[in-house]
Amino acid sequence: MTGGEIFGTCRAIVFDLDDTLYAQVAFKRSGFRAVATRLAQEGIVDAPVAMASMERQLAALGPSHPRILDAAMADLGLTGIRVDSLVSVFRDHRPAICPYPGVIDLLTDLHPGFQLGLLTDGLAAVQRGKVGALGLDGCFDAMLFSDELNTSKPDPVLFEWFERRFELVGGQLLYVGDNPAKDFTGARRRGWRTLRVMSGEHAGVIAPATAKDAELSIDCVTDLRRLVLPPAHQAWGD
Ligand SMILES: [Mg+2]
Repeated sequence: MTGGEIFGTCRAIVFDLDDTLYAQVAFKRSGFRAVATRLAQEGIVDAPVAMASMERQLAALGPSHPRILDAAMADLGLTGIRVDSLVSVFRDHRPAICPYPGVIDLLTDLHPGFQLGLLTDGLAAVQRGKVGALGLDGCFDAMLFSDELNTSKPDPVLFEWFERRFELVGGQLLYVGDNPAKDFTGARRRGWRTLRVMSGEHAGVIAPATAKDAELSIDCVTDLRRLVLPPAHQAWGD
Protein backbone atom coordinates (compact mmCIF):
# COMPACT_ATOMS: atom_id res chain seq x y z
CA MET A 1 0.00 0.00 0.00
CA THR A 2 1.46 3.40 -0.92
CA GLY A 3 1.14 6.34 1.40
CA GLY A 4 -1.47 8.03 -0.77
CA GLU A 5 -3.83 5.08 -0.41
CA ILE A 6 -3.84 5.17 3.39
CA PHE A 7 -5.96 8.31 3.40
CA GLY A 8 -7.22 7.87 -0.15
CA THR A 9 -10.85 8.69 0.71
CA CYS A 10 -9.97 12.01 2.37
CA ARG A 11 -11.03 15.24 0.71
CA ALA A 12 -10.28 17.61 3.58
CA ILE A 13 -7.50 17.88 6.15
CA VAL A 14 -8.05 19.80 9.38
CA PHE A 15 -5.04 20.67 11.54
CA ASP A 16 -4.53 21.40 15.21
CA LEU A 17 -2.26 24.44 15.80
CA ASP A 18 -0.11 24.23 18.95
CA ASP A 19 2.72 21.67 18.70
CA THR A 20 1.30 20.42 15.40
CA LEU A 21 2.20 23.31 13.07
CA TYR A 22 4.67 25.13 15.34
CA ALA A 23 6.40 24.58 18.71
CA GLN A 24 4.23 25.90 21.52
CA VAL A 25 7.25 26.32 23.77
CA ALA A 26 8.46 29.04 21.38
CA PHE A 27 5.24 30.97 22.01
CA LYS A 28 5.74 30.65 25.76
CA ARG A 29 9.30 31.96 25.51
CA SER A 30 8.14 34.82 23.31
CA GLY A 31 5.56 35.82 25.93
CA PHE A 32 8.02 35.47 28.77
CA ARG A 33 10.44 37.82 27.00
CA ALA A 34 7.63 40.41 26.81
CA VAL A 35 6.96 39.95 30.54
CA ALA A 36 10.68 40.21 31.39
CA THR A 37 10.91 43.42 29.37
CA ARG A 38 7.92 44.91 31.22
CA LEU A 39 9.37 43.98 34.63
CA ALA A 40 12.66 45.66 33.70
CA GLN A 41 10.89 48.77 32.33
CA GLU A 42 9.11 49.14 35.66
CA GLY A 43 12.40 48.78 37.54
CA ILE A 44 11.23 45.64 39.35
CA VAL A 45 13.90 43.18 38.23
CA ASP A 46 16.48 42.95 35.44
CA ALA A 47 15.11 41.26 32.31
CA PRO A 48 17.78 38.48 32.16
CA VAL A 49 17.14 37.58 35.80
CA ALA A 50 13.37 37.40 35.23
CA MET A 51 13.81 35.42 32.01
CA ALA A 52 16.13 32.92 33.71
CA SER A 53 13.54 32.31 36.41
CA MET A 54 10.74 31.79 33.88
CA GLU A 55 12.96 29.39 31.92
CA ARG A 56 13.57 27.38 35.10
CA GLN A 57 9.84 27.14 35.78
CA LEU A 58 9.16 26.27 32.15
CA ALA A 59 11.62 23.37 32.37
CA ALA A 60 10.26 22.21 35.71
CA LEU A 61 6.53 22.49 35.02
CA GLY A 62 6.25 22.04 31.25
CA PRO A 63 4.92 24.47 28.58
CA SER A 64 1.23 23.75 29.26
CA HIS A 65 1.34 24.52 32.97
CA PRO A 66 -1.05 27.43 33.70
CA ARG A 67 0.93 28.91 36.62
CA ILE A 68 4.46 29.36 35.29
CA LEU A 69 4.35 33.11 35.87
CA ASP A 70 3.11 32.67 39.46
CA ALA A 71 5.91 30.18 40.11
CA ALA A 72 8.53 32.49 38.62
CA MET A 73 7.38 35.49 40.64
CA ALA A 74 7.51 33.38 43.82
CA ASP A 75 10.97 32.16 42.79
CA LEU A 76 12.10 35.78 42.40
CA GLY A 77 10.60 36.73 45.77
CA LEU A 78 8.15 39.14 44.10
CA THR A 79 5.23 38.04 46.23
CA GLY A 80 3.42 41.38 46.09
CA ILE A 81 3.30 41.63 42.33
CA ARG A 82 0.02 41.48 40.41
CA VAL A 83 0.45 38.40 38.25
CA ASP A 84 -2.80 39.08 36.38
CA SER A 85 -1.26 42.21 34.85
CA LEU A 86 1.72 40.14 33.70
CA VAL A 87 -0.69 37.57 32.23
CA SER A 88 -2.21 40.41 30.20
CA VAL A 89 1.27 41.39 28.94
CA PHE A 90 1.83 37.76 27.98
CA ARG A 91 -1.51 37.37 26.20
CA ASP A 92 -1.40 40.71 24.42
CA HIS A 93 2.16 40.50 23.13
CA ARG A 94 2.90 40.09 19.44
CA PRO A 95 4.41 36.59 19.32
CA ALA A 96 7.76 36.00 17.64
CA ILE A 97 7.16 32.47 16.39
CA CYS A 98 7.52 30.55 13.15
CA PRO A 99 6.01 27.34 11.77
CA TYR A 100 7.91 24.06 11.84
CA PRO A 101 10.21 23.85 8.80
CA GLY A 102 8.36 23.05 5.59
CA VAL A 103 4.84 23.71 6.93
CA ILE A 104 3.94 26.56 4.56
CA ASP A 105 5.16 24.55 1.56
CA LEU A 106 3.25 21.50 2.78
CA LEU A 107 -0.02 23.44 3.07
CA THR A 108 0.57 25.05 -0.33
CA ASP A 109 1.12 21.66 -1.95
CA LEU A 110 -1.93 20.11 -0.24
CA HIS A 111 -4.28 22.87 -1.26
CA PRO A 112 -5.09 21.88 -4.81
CA GLY A 113 -6.22 18.42 -3.71
CA PHE A 114 -7.78 19.05 -0.31
CA GLN A 115 -9.92 21.54 1.52
CA LEU A 116 -7.82 22.67 4.49
CA GLY A 117 -8.99 23.62 7.96
CA LEU A 118 -7.63 24.74 11.31
CA LEU A 119 -9.26 23.74 14.61
CA THR A 120 -7.70 24.99 17.82
CA ASP A 121 -8.54 25.43 21.50
CA GLY A 122 -7.37 28.30 23.68
CA LEU A 123 -8.37 31.94 23.90
CA ALA A 124 -9.52 32.90 20.42
CA ALA A 125 -7.77 36.28 20.38
CA VAL A 126 -4.47 34.68 21.39
CA GLN A 127 -4.87 31.85 18.89
CA ARG A 128 -5.71 34.30 16.08
CA GLY A 129 -2.58 36.27 17.00
CA LYS A 130 -0.52 33.10 16.67
CA VAL A 131 -1.98 32.31 13.24
CA GLY A 132 -1.09 35.81 12.05
CA ALA A 133 2.41 35.72 13.52
CA LEU A 134 3.02 32.32 11.89
CA GLY A 135 2.00 33.67 8.47
CA LEU A 136 -0.74 31.03 8.19
CA ASP A 137 -3.66 33.41 7.66
CA GLY A 138 -4.19 32.60 4.00
CA CYS A 139 -3.45 28.88 4.22
CA PHE A 140 -6.87 27.55 5.27
CA ASP A 141 -10.32 27.40 3.71
CA ALA A 142 -11.86 27.51 7.19
CA MET A 143 -10.61 28.18 10.70
CA LEU A 144 -12.53 27.34 13.86
CA PHE A 145 -11.52 28.69 17.26
CA SER A 146 -13.42 26.49 19.73
CA ASP A 147 -13.42 29.30 22.30
CA GLU A 148 -15.81 31.22 20.04
CA LEU A 149 -18.35 28.37 20.27
CA ASN A 150 -17.83 28.20 24.06
CA THR A 151 -16.57 24.66 23.88
CA SER A 152 -13.32 22.77 23.31
CA LYS A 153 -11.95 19.53 21.94
CA PRO A 154 -12.94 16.73 22.03
CA ASP A 155 -16.51 18.06 21.61
CA PRO A 156 -17.80 16.38 18.39
CA VAL A 157 -19.76 19.57 17.60
CA LEU A 158 -16.47 21.12 16.46
CA PHE A 159 -15.87 18.38 13.93
CA GLU A 160 -19.49 18.50 12.77
CA TRP A 161 -18.92 22.20 12.01
CA PHE A 162 -16.26 21.29 9.44
CA GLU A 163 -18.46 18.56 7.91
CA ARG A 164 -21.12 21.17 7.21
CA ARG A 165 -18.63 23.78 6.07
CA PHE A 166 -16.83 21.43 3.66
CA GLU A 167 -19.99 19.45 2.73
CA LEU A 168 -18.22 16.19 3.56
CA VAL A 169 -18.88 13.29 5.91
CA GLY A 170 -16.88 11.13 8.31
CA GLY A 171 -14.18 9.26 6.46
CA GLN A 172 -13.70 12.06 3.94
CA LEU A 173 -12.04 14.19 6.62
CA LEU A 174 -8.69 13.78 8.37
CA TYR A 175 -7.72 15.44 11.65
CA VAL A 176 -4.04 15.98 12.34
CA GLY A 177 -3.09 16.74 15.95
CA ASP A 178 -0.51 16.05 18.65
CA ASN A 179 -2.38 15.57 21.92
CA PRO A 180 -4.01 12.17 22.53
CA ALA A 181 -5.78 13.52 25.61
CA LYS A 182 -8.18 15.59 23.50
CA ASP A 183 -7.40 15.70 19.78
CA PHE A 184 -8.79 12.46 18.45
CA THR A 185 -11.82 11.17 20.37
CA GLY A 186 -14.24 13.77 18.98
CA ALA A 187 -12.94 13.25 15.45
CA ARG A 188 -13.18 9.48 15.76
CA ARG A 189 -16.71 9.72 17.14
CA ARG A 190 -17.68 11.54 13.93
CA GLY A 191 -16.01 8.85 11.83
CA TRP A 192 -13.03 10.99 10.79
CA ARG A 193 -9.63 9.59 9.98
CA THR A 194 -6.97 10.64 12.50
CA LEU A 195 -3.23 11.20 12.41
CA ARG A 196 -0.96 12.01 15.35
CA VAL A 197 2.15 14.12 14.98
CA MET A 198 4.80 13.11 17.52
CA SER A 199 6.08 16.66 18.00
CA GLY A 200 6.07 19.09 20.91
CA GLU A 201 5.25 18.59 24.55
CA HIS A 202 3.13 15.46 24.09
CA ALA A 203 5.51 13.61 21.79
CA GLY A 204 6.47 11.12 24.50
CA VAL A 205 2.97 10.71 25.97
CA ILE A 206 1.33 7.31 25.73
CA ALA A 207 -2.35 7.65 24.86
CA PRO A 208 -4.59 6.94 27.88
CA ALA A 209 -6.49 4.37 25.79
CA THR A 210 -6.26 3.02 22.26
CA ALA A 211 -9.64 4.59 21.48
CA LYS A 212 -8.19 8.01 22.33
CA ASP A 213 -5.16 7.72 20.08
CA ALA A 214 -4.97 8.34 16.35
CA GLU A 215 -5.00 5.61 13.72
CA LEU A 216 -1.47 6.43 12.63
CA SER A 217 1.41 8.58 13.80
CA ILE A 218 4.23 10.46 12.07
CA ASP A 219 7.36 12.07 13.50
CA CYS A 220 6.68 15.57 12.17
CA VAL A 221 3.83 17.18 10.28
CA THR A 222 5.71 17.38 6.98
CA ASP A 223 5.72 13.55 6.94
CA LEU A 224 2.05 13.97 5.97
CA ARG A 225 3.35 14.69 2.48
CA ARG A 226 4.20 11.04 1.83
CA LEU A 227 0.84 9.85 3.17
CA VAL A 228 -1.45 11.91 1.00
CA LEU A 229 0.45 13.35 -1.96
CA PRO A 230 1.51 11.54 -5.14
CA PRO A 231 5.26 10.74 -5.44
CA ALA A 232 5.99 13.83 -7.57
CA HIS A 233 5.28 15.98 -4.49
CA GLN A 234 7.40 13.92 -2.13
CA ALA A 235 10.81 15.07 -3.37
CA TRP A 236 11.62 16.72 -0.09
CA GLY A 237 10.27 16.85 3.42
CA ASP A 238 10.32 13.03 3.70
MG1 LIG B 1 -1.77 20.73 19.98
